[in-house]
Amino acid sequence: MVRSKFLQSLRLIVFIIFFCAFSQLYYSRNYNFTEDFELILGEVSNLPATWVGTNSVDKNIPILILAGHADSQGLAGAGTPGEAVDKFGLSPMHPEISDELFWNLKLQESIVKLGKKKGLNIRSYDPATRNIDDPNDPRTNWSVGRKFAKSGGYAIEIHFDAYGKYGVGSGLIPPFSESPNKIDESIAEIFGRFPVLYRGGLGAPRREIRILEIGKLEGLLEKNLRNLKTRQKTIQLISNEVVQAFINGTT
Ligand SMILES: [Zn+2]
Repeated sequence: MVRSKFLQSLRLIVFIIFFCAFSQLYYSRNYNFTEDFELILGEVSNLPATWVGTNSVDKNIPILILAGHADSQGLAGAGTPGEAVDKFGLSPMHPEISDELFWNLKLQESIVKLGKKKGLNIRSYDPATRNIDDPNDPRTNWSVGRKFAKSGGYAIEIHFDAYGKYGVGSGLIPPFSESPNKIDESIAEIFGRFPVLYRGGLGAPRREIRILEIGKLEGLLEKNLRNLKTRQKTIQLISNEVVQAFINGTT
């Protein structure tokens, strides 16, 4: 009797050990975070773009990071809801803003924080009011960015591109009339490039504000952002590449 009880407990213990080992393996497989930056980023723009950034940039150039769609959460121009919400019906990251803006803001904060740590003359701007109808209102991203660029600074707006056939992929859209510089080149070497006249010249580039499409909000990139176990690491990884591009592009 005692012996069979002992055997029973032993069986149970062995079962638990195996169960734990397997579930650990299962989860670590699912949450295996790959640091392969290009794999995480996904598709890169393959639109024909011939520009090369050759203008030198002073290493103390003021840099302004804007979060795309921070002032346009109305019906039009709110940014992509992302594949998870739009295609798979998952809950948005925040009830009042698009998933794109949610990630744009997270990345903006992280880039500025890391950039400051690395000695860059870098800052962010957030209009705080989430819907400003007139793009020329002085509080918008574009008005503040335009002013910043006009006074010799480097203004760049962060975006995530739409998923699937609706998006193009990662890449930098250079300013419309100013010729691209070495920071633009350095960013394009990592993220890819869009043509200067993309969609006939967008609102931001026409105001000499660069647009950086980090990547399509889908697949591995979106999964790694949404997963709490890999979120910080993913944001950190992207921020690091952006900040390094700034450093490499200045002299
Ligand atoms: Zn966008």
